[in-house]
Amino acid sequence: MVDLKGQYNEIKEVVNSSINEVIETTTFINGPKVHEFQKNLEEYLGVKHVIPCANGTDALQIAMMGLGLKPGDEVITADFTFAATVEVIAVLNLTPVLVDVDPETFNIDIEAIKKAITPKTKAIVPVHLFGQCANMEAIMAIAKAHDLYVIEDNAQAIGSKYKYTDGKEVMSGTIGHVASTSFFPSKNLGGYGDGGAIFTNDDNLAHTIRGIVNHGMYERYHHDVVGVNSRLDSIQAAVLDAKLPYLDTYNNKRRAAAAAYDLAFQTVEGIIIPKRSGDHVFHQYTLKIQNGNRDALVAHLQANAIPCGVYYPIPLHNQKAYKDVRYNEADFPVTNQLVKEVISLPMHTELEPEQIAFITKTVIDFVKNN
Ligand SMILES: *Cc1c(COP(=O)(O)O)cnc(C)c1O
Repeated sequence: MVDLKGQYNEIKEVVNSSINEVIETTTFINGPKVHEFQKNLEEYLGVKHVIPCANGTDALQIAMMGLGLKPGDEVITADFTFAATVEVIAVLNLTPVLVDVDPETFNIDIEAIKKAITPKTKAIVPVHLFGQCANMEAIMAIAKAHDLYVIEDNAQAIGSKYKYTDGKEVMSGTIGHVASTSFFPSKNLGGYGDGGAIFTNDDNLAHTIRGIVNHGMYERYHHDVVGVNSRLDSIQAAVLDAKLPYLDTYNNKRRAAAAAYDLAFQTVEGIIIPKRSGDHVFHQYTLKIQNGNRDALVAHLQANAIPCGVYYPIPLHNQKAYKDVRYNEADFPVTNQLVKEVISLPMHTELEPEQIAFITKTVIDFVKNN
């Protein structure tokens, strides 16, 4: 699905020298590289505060802790996403409220959010799934009307731009009250291990969160709030700081691969190409395969040594850990359908035209004959 070795080979010198600096200076924890990367990412995103942390799941949890969400508060999020989003809500004893998604963009459904709001609702967590932003303008308007926080889960969309209806453009992850991202190796900006970050334009919230990531300390050995230990280690920061200047190029390569896939698939009956609701950085290139052929196609691709993935095969509301009598199957027609139809094809920065040609031909031949 990804070619991390091919990507490394292209930037070996800068990455190695950045890592070596950390080793030579033995500044393994909270070293200057962490601070440099933080500043460079703030500048790239046009956001006031980036707070690095250990991974994208921690980033979500710490964002919620920073907002002061309390047990019993309801948090609305998408039924069709990676489990981390709902997991941290549950870990904090908040009440997850899963809602359906849009059938074309796969992002959280605006009408479903409106229907799910109760007096206990405190926050909405839109996930910018597969690389494009949820409808943030509508979500921020709902949040304002109901006095809710918005936490953007930007783990899959770093580097994508969001365009308001008046034409103004900002980077994803800088729109809500706070946002989280992940630097897991396969993400669009990936380290060589775990990593994550929280973004916010709110000075007070940033201050609170900087203490939370560091055992609740604002002054050494004074623990003012309950915190966690969640650090981006300096070696990961060194890798990420070396790769950040390439992020736009990497995202452009993903967009080019997606365009080539689109061109091959757009006229094939039974295949639906991913809709663009705006800028898309293609963390995943995800097709919908109609006529009940998806699972057979997965098996066929595997037999032809073509990697593929099903993100996500089970709606969160049907996962054992998150099942709840509050949920009604009739409220999730879209997710229930998507889990049967979606398939993600290889998507990374090193895809060659011949590889794309082989993949598309194999998919199309199968769909036409089944
Ligand atoms: C990857 C991912 C996360 C979690 O990130 P980790 O760094 O693996 O903890 C959270 N949300 C979404 C949508 C993701 O894709």
